[in-house]
Amino acid sequence: MSKRDYYEVLGVDRNVDVKELKKAYRRVAMKCHPDRAPGDKDSEDKFKEASEAYEVLSDPEKRAAYDRFGHEGVNSQGMGGGGFQSGGFEDIFGDVFGDIFGGGRRRPRRGSDLQYTMELSLEEAVSGTETSIRIPTLVACETCEGSGAKPGTSKKACGTCHGQGRVGMRTPLGTIEQSCPHCHGQGQVISEPCTTCRGQGRVQEYKTLSVKVPSGVDTGDRIRLSGEGEAGPEGAPPGDLYVQVLVREHKLFKRDGADLFCEIPISFIDTALGGEIEVPTLNGKVKLRVPAETQTGKLFRMRGKGVKPVRGGVVGDLLCRVIVETPVRLSDKQKALLEEFRDTLEEKHSPKSKSWLDGVKTFFDSLTS
Ligand code: ZN
Repeated sequence: MSKRDYYEVLGVDRNVDVKELKKAYRRVAMKCHPDRAPGDKDSEDKFKEASEAYEVLSDPEKRAAYDRFGHEGVNSQGMGGGGFQSGGFEDIFGDVFGDIFGGGRRRPRRGSDLQYTMELSLEEAVSGTETSIRIPTLVACETCEGSGAKPGTSKKACGTCHGQGRVGMRTPLGTIEQSCPHCHGQGQVISEPCTTCRGQGRVQEYKTLSVKVPSGVDTGDRIRLSGEGEAGPEGAPPGDLYVQVLVREHKLFKRDGADLFCEIPISFIDTALGGEIEVPTLNGKVKLRVPAETQTGKLFRMRGKGVKPVRGGVVGDLLCRVIVETPVRLSDKQKALLEEFRDTLEEKHSPKSKSWLDGVKTFFDSLTS
């Protein structure tokens, strides 16, 4: 099957910036996340496709390589099931909280890195959470304790490199040494393979892990769990597990980095006379004073009621837009009061429509002059 263009997969322009890219990924990923339609192969494939596209395009180096050479340039590997993929991620983690979870290591023949997509509510992402995940992975074989050799037997010297771990290779520039391809530089090979793992030193299993999500994470952030990837072959070190965060849409709040945004309905009486309204925040309701003569659509900024970013820095703001609500299901008496009120209205009471009418007049004057 030929692969679709990554930009096309996410439905973005080729010159899309990082922010828009993240939004596009969130949009596509939310639509086809496997948890939404379990067992739906089509949306599962789409989800993997989108995650892979985001992996590449969100990394400047990978993206540059992709722009120049296409899929050949990034050489992405195959993926496993669910919100989960393995292999080929070692070089693309610019956006990882490595320091929180300890340093990484990179040795030859270590186990593959794993990736898991974790869906969080906005509240969980903002305040942090601890949750357990279950992932299919390779773990060290218990029978041979990961060595791959049948218990009671030991490894023997590799016949190809005679135990040296390195072999010479003739080239036009002379002989160069390279790691032995047979024993992968170990110098030893298994003489009698373990029957449980057929000499692999590791077996397929589900592993349950507890993941601490730091407060302030957002869609696209990754958490590294050092050494929690696949076990390495024949006792080699394990890979790492990367948990990729995907924050669900919230009913009330939209998030933009550290800021939160919401719309609050308000009665035209409160906007005309001024009043106090209740505004929801992630930590409960707060009161907002609305001054008299407030127009619909006015944005109020509540400092410090947003999100504390995971990488530190200033806590964001909550931006509330007040939307004037037209009263409905009025009684006859209320209608009569409003009729009476309408009769008292003059031009000066409608600043917007006055300036709008003035604008229309100027426009026609300019046509006739
Ligand atoms: Zn074994």
